[in-house]
Amino acid sequence: MNFSSKKSLGQNFLRDQSIINLITEKGNINKRDVVLEVGPGTGNLTEKIIQKNPKDLILIEKDERLAFYLNKKFGDKIKVFNEDMMKFSYQNYYDKRLIIFGNLPYNISTQILAKWVKIKNLDKFCKKLILMFQKEVADRIIAKTNSSNYGRLSILSNWKMNVEKVIDIEPNCFEPAPKVKSTLLVFTPKKIFYEINDPTNLEHITNIFFSQRRKMIKKPLKFLFTNFQDIAKKLSLDLNLRPQNLDNITYYKICKAYESLIN
Ligand code: SAM
Repeated sequence: MNFSSKKSLGQNFLRDQSIINLITEKGNINKRDVVLEVGPGTGNLTEKIIQKNPKDLILIEKDERLAFYLNKKFGDKIKVFNEDMMKFSYQNYYDKRLIIFGNLPYNISTQILAKWVKIKNLDKFCKKLILMFQKEVADRIIAKTNSSNYGRLSILSNWKMNVEKVIDIEPNCFEPAPKVKSTLLVFTPKKIFYEINDPTNLEHITNIFFSQRRKMIKKPLKFLFTNFQDIAKKLSLDLNLRPQNLDNITYYKICKAYESLIN
């Protein structure tokens, strides 16, 4: 079936069978699993997932034409929601340990990731996420401390999940071909992670630090804490360092200190 692709919905459909197979294998699906695919498009990956016989397969597709087509094509093997993945009520699935697949539309990829990370018992909500991003975004997610890509996105993504890079994918694996490369990442929720009351505080803090990434950390610390010198001492922070020199854990600790101040 040929659909004119909608640029506004980031519609670049995967065509390369070896990549589609690789993505499916990364799910390690068994017949007790409930699988969620967001943005299934024309169902190229969906078809391979069905072959693995999951217990349930839920699809969220915003494009009405595609949702209708998928329903017709796969019938009772799937349950399609013609909805926006950003507005979808995930509550019904909070204890399902989903395997989540998504060749994500570029314009909302970081927002949807942040939305999922913020779900409280993430390891009960999902077992694994196999997600495709624009390469430049994936590079920021997996960036290590002291690198130029390290920042808000790496700190938030690595807070409750382990992230593994699988492969970079060339534009010609898609139809229509995007202008940039893509990267496949696998996320596994951690059982043990640093306790933070409200992850929006972590976003707030990292926003303040990294909006001036060349400045020394004294400036954002002073902005956040009147007693910034005590905080620096308590966390053994060298005030001459730059935001990219502090590791993830240090940001989680700064967040905790901030939370004890505002609560
Ligand atoms: N998974 C398919 C594939 O790999 O061939 C299509 C991937 S395409 C990059 C992104 C898909 O997400 C499109 O089918 C698009 O219609 C859908 N989409 C875009 N924004 C969406 C949203 N907010 N909620 C649900 N689906 C969305």
